[in-house]
Amino acid sequence: MRAAVFLGPNEMELRDVSRPEPGPGDVLIKVAACAVCGTDLRILSGGKTRGVVPPRVLGHEIAGEIIALGEGAERFTDLTPGRRVTMAPGIPCLACRFCNTGSENLCRNRSALGYSYDGGFAEYMVVPAVGVARGILFPIPDGLSYEEASLAEPLACVVNGQRKSKIHLGDGVLVIGAGPIGLMHLQLARSAGARTVVVSEPNAPRRALAGELGATRTVDPTKEDLAEIIHAATDDDGADVVIAAIGVPTLVNQLLEVTRPGGRVNLFAGYSGAGEATISANLIHYGELVVTGTSACTRDTFRTALNLMQSGQVDVSSLASHRFPLDQVQTAFETTRSGAGLRVVVTH
Ligand SMILES: [Zn+2]
Ligand SMILES: [Zn+2]
Repeated sequence: MRAAVFLGPNEMELRDVSRPEPGPGDVLIKVAACAVCGTDLRILSGGKTRGVVPPRVLGHEIAGEIIALGEGAERFTDLTPGRRVTMAPGIPCLACRFCNTGSENLCRNRSALGYSYDGGFAEYMVVPAVGVARGILFPIPDGLSYEEASLAEPLACVVNGQRKSKIHLGDGVLVIGAGPIGLMHLQLARSAGARTVVVSEPNAPRRALAGELGATRTVDPTKEDLAEIIHAATDDDGADVVIAAIGVPTLVNQLLEVTRPGGRVNLFAGYSGAGEATISANLIHYGELVVTGTSACTRDTFRTALNLMQSGQVDVSSLASHRFPLDQVQTAFETTRSGAGLRVVVTH
């Protein structure tokens, strides 16, 4: 079979490798769709490895079909060959204090598909027995395509961020960035009952899509004064909740400035390098701001994401802008890097 193998910084090669065999408890998957995540780009560029040791097949936003169960796997899953599945890539240890207090995404001993195990940029992949036993495989609900199901993982991370952002009925929300992640936050903020959702995004087509997906106001931050617009939209108080869906350190202080006293800021997107930002700590102190981050997802937010997609509360199909076959995985990565589209999906 063919697989895109990450060999080291800026080196990924499409190779013929032998098809993996499912060992005891494993599940063999024929990959149908695997979306390219910003994290994949950071790993490939050598910036962020999170336990990735080359050679490794990347890709953690995966949907496919079960081809075979390894010996004994049926004791841990009801899913059988022929079922369409997607998967929460993180495998929690279930023993550490984080796993035992509802924060398995922060598990100290976490392993993950596409990081410590081979992922979805290949024709076939194996879900290891430990993941099968911990319930990371989910059947794809009827009516959802493989491509849509591959976006359950980013949506599950967004659900995690939304829970930390605690949007209430009637809130004024600001989302920074209208990439696929920002557009998911926008839709969930509307679902959560926000009165206004302002979306700031310099790219015009992305801004237009934000308008179609329910933004009450879109802002071009290169031409308009974001602070002025937020104050006008919130009776001068500032936003109740601000969500940063792009990781630009120099923006952080500006986000604190447009948050109302007692409001919440979620630094959802990751920052490259050390991610150092200069902030006025008094904005947090006197404003009693609550600043949170978000990292990855849990099996619970994954299940919620699939439910939200099936019910139609979140439209992810308009967020997949490009499709490439596995042979063009490099182009898929370059397209993601260029920012030309939204989510880029490698399909089979
Ligand atoms: Zn991802
Ligand atoms: Zn753990």
